Amino acid sequence: MRQMIMGNWKMHGLRGSGERLAREIAKGADPACVSRDLVIAPPFTLLSSLAPLLSPHGIGLAAQDCHEDPDGAHTGDIAAPMLADLGVSHVILGHSERRQNHHESSALICRKVEAAQKSGLIPVLCVGETEADKAADRVEDVLGRQIEESLPRGFSGIVAYEPVWAIGTGQAATEQDISDRMAFLHAAIARHLETDDKATRILYGGSVKPEDAASILAVPGVGGVLVGGASLTAESFLGIARAG
Ligand code: PGA
Repeated sequence: MRQMIMGNWKMHGLRGSGERLAREIAKGADPACVSRDLVIAPPFTLLSSLAPLLSPHGIGLAAQDCHEDPDGAHTGDIAAPMLADLGVSHVILGHSERRQNHHESSALICRKVEAAQKSGLIPVLCVGETEADKAADRVEDVLGRQIEESLPRGFSGIVAYEPVWAIGTGQAATEQDISDRMAFLHAAIARHLETDDKATRILYGGSVKPEDAASILAVPGVGGVLVGGASLTAESFLGIARAG
């Protein structure tokens, strides 16, 4: 399975700077140089203008959230069919910043995953433990519960393992930790979905930088990386995409 490099721009980018960055990434994403799948997740406001810049280069386009309903009286929300209508291919769901800042529960995230799949979008479901979970030695309990509660039966998307303490801190998880968590998550997902071990692609996310991308991408079980801060320049995002 090809590895995926996904850039999560979070709440960064106006039209000028966002389109410029997308063009620079597209220019450097020649398949001769990059043998991995690339996906960009800009803010909602840039989705429609980035779609024609990225799709001719085979770069996927992701949203950072969607509503659980296909339409309705939900002021300020965006439904999965609206995203599909813009040419969006993937949607990040259950990111820790949404679980924390918007109090999203795993049950709600599970319904969003189902809504995304119904619209033909590929969900990228984020799971990860906090610093407190790690200190209390309950990492596997937390990850196991997030998998059971957020993954609907019939899930056919991507999972991203993002330890909350590694996000935006400059301190990525160690290769040994990533390797252990990948083995645990692959087994937990296979058990929950009653499928083959390793059938689901699992990304690592949390302070991935060009310097350590090659060693992270070489960890057994890693299906790619979800990149926040380092996806905001073409040089560092493409550095990660070409690493190794
Ligand atoms: P980071 O963010 O690479 O800036 O740590 C990753 C993420 O939140 O997806």
